[in-house]
Amino acid sequence: MENNSSNYDVIVMGGGPAGSSIASILAREGRSVILFEKEEFPRHHIGESLMTDTYWTFQRMGILEKLKQSPFVRKYSVLFANSAGRESRPFYFFEANHHESAVTWQVTRSEFDKFLLEHAAEQGAIINQGTPVKRVLFDGDRAVGVEVIINGSVQTFNANVIVDATGQQAILSNKFGWRVRDPKLKKAVLYSYFKGASREPDLNGGATLVLRTEPGSGGWFWYIPLENDITSVGVVADPDYLYKGRGKDFAKIFDEEIEKCESCRRRVAGATRVDKIYSILDYSYRSKQNAGDGFILIGDAYGFLDPIYSSGVLLAMKMAELAAEAIHDAFASEDFSAARLGQFQPKLDRGIESMRKLVYAFYDEGFSFAKFLQKYPDQRVNIINLLIGDVFRSGVDDVYGPLSEFAEIPPPLYEQLPASDVSGDDSREAERDVVLSAQYQYYDDRAATQK
Ligand SMILES: Cc1cc2nc3c(=O)[nH]c(=O)nc-3n(C[C@H](O)[C@H](O)[C@H](O)COP(=O)(O)OP(=O)(O)OC[C@H]3O[C@@H](n4cnc5c(N)ncnc54)[C@H](O)[C@@H]3O)c2cc1C
Repeated sequence: MENNSSNYDVIVMGGGPAGSSIASILAREGRSVILFEKEEFPRHHIGESLMTDTYWTFQRMGILEKLKQSPFVRKYSVLFANSAGRESRPFYFFEANHHESAVTWQVTRSEFDKFLLEHAAEQGAIINQGTPVKRVLFDGDRAVGVEVIINGSVQTFNANVIVDATGQQAILSNKFGWRVRDPKLKKAVLYSYFKGASREPDLNGGATLVLRTEPGSGGWFWYIPLENDITSVGVVADPDYLYKGRGKDFAKIFDEEIEKCESCRRRVAGATRVDKIYSILDYSYRSKQNAGDGFILIGDAYGFLDPIYSSGVLLAMKMAELAAEAIHDAFASEDFSAARLGQFQPKLDRGIESMRKLVYAFYDEGFSFAKFLQKYPDQRVNIINLLIGDVFRSGVDDVYGPLSEFAEIPPPLYEQLPASDVSGDDSREAERDVVLSAQYQYYDDRAATQK
């Protein structure tokens, strides 16, 4: 602990991309910020492929030049393959965006998250690692502080605003039973890391590949090239397909899935798996509210959307920016109410919904980008704008008129669910949350060696 005071403008709980981004921004912009992260970094985390629109938040954080010097692999495009192995032309981001922000990075998250957190400290935020928040303290309905555990003893810190950036742990939306689950986006994931897997030539060497698995699996592989010749490879599929009747040997299931996916198999043939198998249940969800009196939820603590388009870190960082604006506004007006702090929720939800529609289209068995673009070639730029993450711009949804001829486009999440699920009994939802979060399990097998 580097500071004896226990009163701050802002307390941030969680030091992932959401927490470290808001801590950097607010500290740079003159607020006193203290952040508590339960783990000691570096720590493993999934979510390695960035979207290019993160550029603008990196710029505001003052970290862009450092990123350009980093060893992280440059990502210029995304490429899709259908279940028959037929591969799309790469979607290059510079087709739609003629600025240096059309290139982004593939990041080893343990290194990236540490890098962001150290940057937040350089901007003046006080960072405490290995320091779990035990609970949030309330005065009536208003959040006023936190209790943390330091060297085994409980200490109290106070602030005008508490930011919940605890990821899937989502301390506050769990406490209030605010989480609602997407009725369709429930997936299971197995992933690991390979050394020496093949890379596409030239600019495509840093592309994210999305390789569909067999029809009926509801699934696909990600193939993400990282630094040091490591490639992150993961299969996402319907839980029943991936696990039911297939035993508990995840390494065997993972190998079987690779074997069945020609586009993946030929790329990892000859490569060596250098890490354990990780398994996750990934259920998309959102919180009914993004703020209460004295607190805001950002990143996965607010919502999580299926990872098909790699939108998680982008949305976490956008929320950090939007929340920073709301916090400045709250200080200016001396109003720390839920309405003031949560003012950006409609804009945020519109952006998430734009991305979510494209997620639904992808999982529609009959849908293919190739068929859609054959009929509507002019929509290619609009699709790329979505793949870039430019989801907060008005007009971005125009693509869904023509696209609805090819795939089911869902209504907004809160309209799609029965009213009782959205406004219903909070305690029942709080119970249900036990199975809503992603559950990370690390399956060790003898074949794997540490990276
Ligand atoms: C299978 C899968 C694949 C994905 N792929 C991608 C991808 O390619 N690209 C992408 O952008 N996103 C991807 N994501 C999403 C991405 O992982 C998340 O959206 C992103 O990490 C969210 O950042 P965050 O800061 O909100 O949460 P996190 O990164 O989870 O950070 C939360 C932090 O809070 C800390 N914490 C928790 N509880 C406490 C506590 N009580 N006290 C103190 N600290 C606490 C945790 O230790 C953690 O460090 C993927 C997700 C999954 C499940």
